[in-house]
Amino acid sequence: MHYRGHRFRVRSALCFRRPRYCPVCLAESGYFKAVWDFSLAVFCPQHRCVLSCECTACATVLGWDRTALDWCRCGQPLASSTPLPVKRKEQLTLQTLFSNLLLGVSHKDETAQLGLPEWLVDLSLDGWFHLLSALGCADRSSSCEFDASARSEASFSRRIADSAQARWKTAHPNGRVIRRDLAVRPVPHIEDATIRGYYTPVAHMTPDLHAATALSDTLIAELKSAHTVLIASPIYNFSLPAQPPPAQPR
Ligand SMILES: [Zn+2]
Ligand SMILES: [Zn+2]
Repeated sequence: MHYRGHRFRVRSALCFRRPRYCPVCLAESGYFKAVWDFSLAVFCPQHRCVLSCECTACATVLGWDRTALDWCRCGQPLASSTPLPVKRKEQLTLQTLFSNLLLGVSHKDETAQLGLPEWLVDLSLDGWFHLLSALGCADRSSSCEFDASARSEASFSRRIADSAQARWKTAHPNGRVIRRDLAVRPVPHIEDATIRGYYTPVAHMTPDLHAATALSDTLIAELKSAHTVLIASPIYNFSLPAQPPPAQPR
């Protein structure tokens, strides 16, 4: 696959199905940046914030079936979303490096700032994707928790999970926790359009198929980004509840 003059050996290096954006960039320029399609681009170095894939007004994952590029289907301008700040300078410098590499601009300064060996200057974007994937580019101080109980306060599985999560937080005080409460925000059962989207080449994806696979892409990205996964599921009548942890095979 080729994208802006760069060759990528695997499709997952690019993230076309789940649009991501920096709300401040959108407010300033009104367009989506090409680098946001690169899977490893997760921050905006210019505005020091996390790239969002959701509308903060309606808390739904963005699809491509919007009436305007910079508006959510609920009528909320994406530029008005609240940016989530990033503090670690190294993460932002690495994002600048990816941006410059995509645009063909020199990234020697960023390589030097990160204290990386000089030979990495010649590494392609595809090479970066494979290198960081092989090293476990996922933030090792991140965890993903799934709560599947239909009960809230009275749930035993939630209590056990909270206890485990508290211990994990003690061990990783700066750790990032992604939490999916499947009773509050259920994952819908898989549909025909979703399965068709999985097997449709990117070039033939329609807005409907993009929308049908958007949530799946988000969940897969969250799982991949987590070093630790915690699943809290009760047993109802000797079986799992109707809102099982999201495990939609690709
Ligand atoms: Zn920005
Ligand atoms: Zn919305």
